[in-house]
Amino acid sequence: MTDENNPSSVRRQRIADNFNAVIEDVQQAVSQCGRSAKEVTIVGVTKYVDAATTADLVAAGCASLGENRPQVLWQKAESVELNGLAIDWHMIGHVQRNKLRRLMRFRPLIHSVDSPRLLDAIGDEATLINHSFDVLLEVNISGDETKTGLSTDAIEQILQQDPHPLVNVRGLMAMAGHGTGPSQAQAQFARVRSFRDSLEASTGASLPELSMGMSGDFAQAIAEGATLVRIGSRLFDGVI
Ligand SMILES: *Cc1c(COP(=O)(O)O)cnc(C)c1O
Repeated sequence: MTDENNPSSVRRQRIADNFNAVIEDVQQAVSQCGRSAKEVTIVGVTKYVDAATTADLVAAGCASLGENRPQVLWQKAESVELNGLAIDWHMIGHVQRNKLRRLMRFRPLIHSVDSPRLLDAIGDEATLINHSFDVLLEVNISGDETKTGLSTDAIEQILQQDPHPLVNVRGLMAMAGHGTGPSQAQAQFARVRSFRDSLEASTGASLPELSMGMSGDFAQAIAEGATLVRIGSRLFDGVI
């Protein structure tokens, strides 16, 4: 029940309503392209809000959370509001190697591996703690120089080398180019998917995960095979 005089109760209800609306939109998008909702994980991007507001999203049922700064991820994971909750953490922004050790305690799926050196460093940490890690390689598909991510050639090279036994490259992450509308974004997502398909054929790697689509273009990403959609501002509409 919402207590309309209690701001935190109003906020919690608003976030739950937003999350449910996103679930409905995801369901509509999957059914339009003959996929199943089970194939798509909604990663709630909580970089805009504090730990208490993040906890409201978890209470609404969103168990997968994404942050773009390592130190914010670990601060939230250790916060009184979130510590002990069953959360699947997703690291979606640039990771400096000196932040890896503390970050990896929370066993995040790192979407944003953007250099061979970072991948090697993840392997070193995995060896040290004897724990395997899933990662995604961030591809710069828009060719936009200002965007981060590996070139398609660099990704092909990484996958042709012997994999680290404890690091599993599970797929690709991509962002549409800056200022791209939904239909241009869809063409870029289609290129990510076909690049993934060609990588699987040329390297023999299995790359089932595609992390693509944000608040403005997740329906297009789902149509092109996204398995992880990273949604932030839609969830906090009316709250931030
Ligand atoms: C902020 C961010 C998102 C979420 O974007 P919204 O448009 O707020 O949904 C997704 N992916 C990355 C990498 C981000 O930094």
